[in-house]
Amino acid sequence: MAENLLNFDAEQLTAWFAQQGEKPFRARQVLRWIYKNGESDFDAMSDLAQSLRSKLKETACIVAPKVMREELSEDGTRKWLLDVGTGNAVETVFIPETDRGTLCVSTQAGCALDCAFCSTGKQGFSRNLSTAEIIGQLWWANREIGRASDGNWPITNVVLMGMGEPLANFDNTVSALRLMLDDNAYGLSRRRVTVSTSGIVPAMDRLRDECPVALAVSLHAPNDALRDVLVPINRKYPLRELMAACLRYLERAPRDFVTFEYVMLEGVNDSLQHARELIALVRDVPCKFNLIPYNPIPQAPYRRSSAEAVRRFRDVLMEAGIVTTIRKTRGDDIAAACGQLAGQVQDKTRRTHRLMEVGT
Ligand code: SAH
Ligand code: SF4
Repeated sequence: MAENLLNFDAEQLTAWFAQQGEKPFRARQVLRWIYKNGESDFDAMSDLAQSLRSKLKETACIVAPKVMREELSEDGTRKWLLDVGTGNAVETVFIPETDRGTLCVSTQAGCALDCAFCSTGKQGFSRNLSTAEIIGQLWWANREIGRASDGNWPITNVVLMGMGEPLANFDNTVSALRLMLDDNAYGLSRRRVTVSTSGIVPAMDRLRDECPVALAVSLHAPNDALRDVLVPINRKYPLRELMAACLRYLERAPRDFVTFEYVMLEGVNDSLQHARELIALVRDVPCKFNLIPYNPIPQAPYRRSSAEAVRRFRDVLMEAGIVTTIRKTRGDDIAAACGQLAGQVQDKTRRTHRLMEVGT
């Protein structure tokens, strides 16, 4: 079967070329064609020998996931639903702003971590995306949107905040990250690529050692009792361990702070007492906060905190010296906002079934 070259980071592509008896600089040339030019046709790779082009046409291909549907929001946000086979779909969201274009990328079909307020989690886990399916989202979206007036690709920032937990699909995620950063591919700065994690502590340490990029941590609660309920992975890696992992990460991170994401749930985690508890929790961790207005999903009982409650919460954090922003909800009208990315993923874990069986 033809090898999909989007599955290889630079090192892996060089190794694959070596297996074919080709020199490393050939791999670099091909990488540049694929990512700098957005090329998928080997015949167009004009600086490769004709014999190599013919060989690649037989042994390799360059294929991103198939787009099933595109939606455009009134605010310019674009969402693509991508077919990743066997009844699975994932979503990619492009968020244009005046000074940058951000792509929100998915890393898994579904998610096994089952956070209480997240529609991806409510679907259960289906499977990990391949490197080609992860980097293919960026490759395809850049080509689809087209170059900006300065000739650069429109996507300047990438956040791994779509469907799935990136650190639970570690190897493929890291290969995709390396392509985002590689000078022969997209050449993005480490500061412009953000991994968001619910807090898988050992994988945070590996990311720090293998491919440090900007880090966002989905905190959502100021104490273990509440976080155990909202973000169940907390039962395995409680807050004390998570805070220590953040500090270790910062030793090698491209930014000198961690971004804590905090979804605002009315009457659940949004009181001023919660804010004060948070301040004590993160006292030793250089951080910023991003407060996310909850986007309601049908499978969860929560309500969005009022704008007033969110502002008061922010003010308390700010008075304690913590830079705090309130996330604008974007793409609401096309269900592209945080946590609303549902796709059409089958529940391979049959969680719904199991829960019914145990009567919860
Ligand atoms: N699995 C990773 C990244 C994907 S989720 C993580 O959890 O960090 C991206 C962000 O959206 C996370 O902070 C997540 O907690 C948040 N989120 C999930 N469901 C949401 C909802 N219904 N409303 C608002 N934010 C939500
Ligand atoms: Fe998974 Fe993140 Fe959703 Fe939690 S918030 S279920 S970790 S995708």
